[in-house]
Order: sequence, then C-alpha cells, then structure tokens
Amino acid sequence: MSRLVIVSNRVTKVNHRGAQAGGLVVGLVGALKEMSGLWFGWSGDVNENPSDEPRLSSSDGISYATVDLSPRDYAEYYNGFSNAMLWPLFHYRLDLVEFHRRDYRGYRRANTRFAKILTNLLEPDDLIWVHDYHLIPLAEELRRLGVRNKIGFFLHTPFPSHQIMVALPQHREIVSALSAYDVVGFQSAIDLRTFSHYIKFETHGVFQEDKHLIRAFRHMFYADKFPIGIDTANVEAMARSREHAARAERLTESLRGRSLIIGVDRLDYSKGLVHRFRSFELFLNRNKDWRSKVVLLQIAPRTREDVAQYEEIRHELESEAGRINGAFAEVDWVPIRYLNRSFTRETLAVFYRQARVGLVTPLRDGMNLVAKEYVAAQNPTDPGVLVLSRFAGAAEQLTDSLIVNPYDEDRVAATLGRALEMSRKERRARWKATMNVIRRHDIDAWRRNFLRVLARAPFSL
Ligand code: ADP
Repeated sequence: MSRLVIVSNRVTKVNHRGAQAGGLVVGLVGALKEMSGLWFGWSGDVNENPSDEPRLSSSDGISYATVDLSPRDYAEYYNGFSNAMLWPLFHYRLDLVEFHRRDYRGYRRANTRFAKILTNLLEPDDLIWVHDYHLIPLAEELRRLGVRNKIGFFLHTPFPSHQIMVALPQHREIVSALSAYDVVGFQSAIDLRTFSHYIKFETHGVFQEDKHLIRAFRHMFYADKFPIGIDTANVEAMARSREHAARAERLTESLRGRSLIIGVDRLDYSKGLVHRFRSFELFLNRNKDWRSKVVLLQIAPRTREDVAQYEEIRHELESEAGRINGAFAEVDWVPIRYLNRSFTRETLAVFYRQARVGLVTPLRDGMNLVAKEYVAAQNPTDPGVLVLSRFAGAAEQLTDSLIVNPYDEDRVAATLGRALEMSRKERRARWKATMNVIRRHDIDAWRRNFLRVLARAPFSL
C-alpha cells in the first residue's frame, strides 16, 4: 500500500488522548495511521532564520515534518496573500480584498520553499494530498522539481464565481496551478460549478462532466465535490457522556429554564455574526412574550488578529452586542451572551445538546462543520432545530434543516420563532433525516472517497 503524505498550512500534532483535535484532524490522523503516513507543513512558529531542515518527529505510527516561517513569509504568504487576499476573495468579499503584488510573490516563494523541502522527504509511491488555499501552487512547484507522484488537492473554502475570481490579478496563475494536480476536490456542487464556469469561459477548457474530467492549461485532471464530514460517532458519544454532562451544569443553572439558542464560530466576517445579532434583535422586538425567556449564546474566539479586517469585525460585534443588550436586558436577564473564547470539543458537544436552536448563518462558508456537530450532539428523543444559511456548503446536504438567507433578517427572525416553537414530532422527523446524512457522509467516508479517486490517477478520456 502507498504511503499517504498530507500537506497543510498548519500541522496539528494530536496528543495521545486526541482531546483538542478537531474533526478534520481526527479524520486525517485516522488516514495517516492506516497508511503509515507523513504530515508536512508549517510548525506555527515564526523566527528570523528558519531552517530548511524540517523538524522530524513521530507518534502513534505517524511521522511529522514541520518548518518555521520567516517574519516576511508570515506577513506576505500567510497574513497577506492567503488571509487578506484569497480568503476574502473566495468568500465573495471583494470589498475586503487587499491586492498587493508583493504578497503574491511571498505566497509563491513560500510554496516553492515548501516544495523543495518536501521533495527530499518523498518516496516514489507516496500519495500526496494537499489541503486548502494556502498551498494551491504546491503541485506545480513539485512537478517542476521532477516529482511524478499522484497529487490531490482539496479546497476547504468555497470557490468563487467567475466574475469574482477574475478580479484577482493573478487568477490565471492560480487556476493553472490547480491544473497541475491529478485530483481537485471541492466542498459542494456550487463550487464545482463555479470552477467549471471559470474553466469554460476563461480558458476555453473542456469539462467532461460524466467522467469528472477537465482538460485545461494543457493538463487533464479530475474535479469533483467531496463534501467534508465530521467524526459523527465521536460527537454523539461526547454529547451524551455523563462524565461530560457536568460541564454544562453552570450553563443549565444559569438559564433557569430559558430556551437556549447557540452560535459557535471563529470570529470571522464570513460567519455573518452582525446580521445574526440583528436578526435576534428583530426577533425580540417582535416577540415580547419571548423576552426574558430566551438567550443567545454566541461563542466566537478571535482569530487572525494580525489581519486588519479582523479588528474591524471584532469592534463592530462588540458594539452590536452591547447595544442590543443595553436595549433589552433586565436585572436578571441579558439576551446575548457573547464569549470570545474557545472551549474543548467535549464542552461544545454538551452545550449543543442543551440548545433548542443551533443558529448557523454564515454569509459564505465552504461547508460549516459546526452545523453538523450541532445536529450530531442532539438528544434523539428531544432534539433541537438547526437554522442554517443557504450560503453554507452544508445547506446542499442538510436539506431538512430550516434553511435561511442570512441577509434577510426579517425571515431569520421569523424562522427563529418557528424553530423555538416547533413541535417535538416535527423536530424529531427533521433531526432524523438530517442525522442520516451526517452519519452516512462522515469524515472517514470523505477521506476514503477522495483517496480512492486519487489512487486511480493519472486520468485520460
Ligand atoms: P471554519 O473552518 O471556517 O472555522 P467550520 O465550522 O467548518 O468553520 O469549522 C470550525 C471547527 O472549529 C469546528 O469543528 C468547531 O467545533 C471548531 N470550533 C469553532 N469554534 C470553536 C470554539 N469556540 N471552541 C472550540 N472549537 C471551536
């Protein structure tokens, strides 16, 4: 069997209990264990003179190789092109994109360096699986160095529509770099469609849909949707564990029988938090009876604090939460509990189970794993209701949730009322249908599907 080599911007080493690992990491680690794999990427550290000798370690049958970034690569490759250019662009936020050629050069430079270092670690039979927008040029660089292995790429974010994509001065370089992979995977049918539109209209390439094959930039590659899942059984177990239930005691007591609406997101402008708060405000305005009887718990740890746009969204949210709480709070009730911290996965699972409504309203999201985790954590006999944005990749799969347009605050407010008042019978029916999908398409199925296709490379018509 071939060895699996996973490349991602950040390498997450799982401690022996695996306690802090997210679903994605759990899934990838499972694959790495089975295929005595190697995980390569950035260590997360920045230093003045980073060595090109990777730091090697191994645990539980998995090898890790990590390198540090220089301050310049951190600024240009990571904060710059990846997070201030590609991230907003891929989430349809042209207004937030900062175009700097210097950052693009840094992005290419960091990818060239990663490719050089990785080449020395490869064996001829290795299957290479590259993750996410930070590393799009990696296969092209590896091929340049003579690497002939099968290389796949999975984009965790959306792929934007053609007209958004072409606003990026280097759009051709980026998409042609994707064509150097054998397999390119997207989260949803919409992303696959926008990508194929780009190929058709911008490159006059050909997409043979029944075979999932694209011919463009003188390459033939396989492109399909591979919607990512969660470690469903694990989340279910965490949520019903008696041992973990104690973690929710303080929350339960503090609610005093009030209904809980929960939101859990990284603090990111793509998550639609401002619209979410305003929708909740509208709900309170229109439903006087619900005042004092419902609490919105929004958990949103800060991320990417070195990128300017993140500071703005943080200030905006603080001000909105303060304004709404100021307008509605009573001496013994505050409508929005807004927490900028993270919790362990076990704690989140028991919080989800407490919540009558999971409010997941991103303005754009590749998949949104929180939506799936919320559903998996519910009590099957008395489940809560998922209110889900149509702009999350998950909406394509979780069609029995209450699907909303997050910009339409009126409707989101009305849908909150519907969710809070939904009969147990309807809640159970919707939960069952949604949970079936989440069980069938879990994280293991996702990586097996992807690797099965990659193993078939190279492709020809
Ligand atoms: P994104 O990848 O954009 O952050 P997702 O919803 O797809 O969004 O994935 C987020 C992951 O991070 C989920 O597995 C979720 O449980 C986890 N997560 C989000 N917020 C927190 C938090 N406050 N504490 C711990 N884990 C969190």
